[in-house]
Amino acid sequence: MLDRAGAPLVTRTLTDPRPAADELLIRVRACGVCRTDLHIRDGELPRASTPVVPGHQIAGEVVARGAGATRFDLGARVGVTWLASTCGRCAWCLSGRENLCPDARFTGCDRDGGFAELTVAREAFCHALPDAYDDVRVAPLLCAGAIGYRALRLAGDAANVGLYGFGSSAHLVAQVAAARGQRVFAFTRAGDESAQRAARDLGAEWAGASTDGAPRPLEAAIIFAPVGELVPLALRAVAPGGVVVCAGIHMSDIPSFPYALLWEERQVRSVANVTRADVTALLRHAGEHPLRVLAEAMPLDRAEEALERIRSGRVAGSLVLVP
Ligand SMILES: [Zn+2]
Ligand SMILES: [Zn+2]
Repeated sequence: MLDRAGAPLVTRTLTDPRPAADELLIRVRACGVCRTDLHIRDGELPRASTPVVPGHQIAGEVVARGAGATRFDLGARVGVTWLASTCGRCAWCLSGRENLCPDARFTGCDRDGGFAELTVAREAFCHALPDAYDDVRVAPLLCAGAIGYRALRLAGDAANVGLYGFGSSAHLVAQVAAARGQRVFAFTRAGDESAQRAARDLGAEWAGASTDGAPRPLEAAIIFAPVGELVPLALRAVAPGGVVVCAGIHMSDIPSFPYALLWEERQVRSVANVTRADVTALLRHAGEHPLRVLAEAMPLDRAEEALERIRSGRVAGSLVLVP
């Protein structure tokens, strides 16, 4: 768990959580590690409260239910995501944008998450998981996949899509986009041959350095790396009317750039969180079009090491903690 922002994660024995009436008690089988967990650990997300158990890509088994929780049977396999709860009444909740609810709570951020043996979650925010994926491989779909899916949706029906930063999200999104008939162009750090090879293996038609121009004009670019310098580079790569979608929850400052890069109706926008509908749609896609999930399992007590590996940026696909 994380005692305070900026401190390393430590192993602690906690009392077992008890489910409220509308909650499930879940035995965690696998929990994916997300760059957001690193931002929380480093104190870059002001809303995170500590102490907290991080982790918001949880695949687990229902072991107890609150008195009012009847949607899943005991023993059912469920997934828990970043979106832990919303108010259900505000203008955003009532217009299909619960990801923007001002009263939303987030798993592993302002309530305990899945870097643990047990966790509790509101059953209305839990998801049934596709049978074709084991626990380690399904976990990265719950945030990396779902955020990427939302970003791709907000990128519109672009024929040519650029992905900046080829890690946990992009390796899944590349496959979703390719399955939809979109042409994928992957931009990585200069000289990162293994990421470029992985991108080509997973459906990208071209892979190169972020500083290289795109081989053809793109209708959309999605930035997964938390690097503000990529925004002007991506704007340079998109055609008139194109969109640059920033998919991370945190990004370094964007350097100033000439208005000419935004001119001709180019747009820059962000993606904030996910809705339950995004997760459901991605899981349905994953059930119908098998995704190759590059996932490496690590024992739960090596969570701090997993975060450091994400920081280094040298992870092929996703890291997943297993209690
Ligand atoms: Zn995440
Ligand atoms: Zn709301």
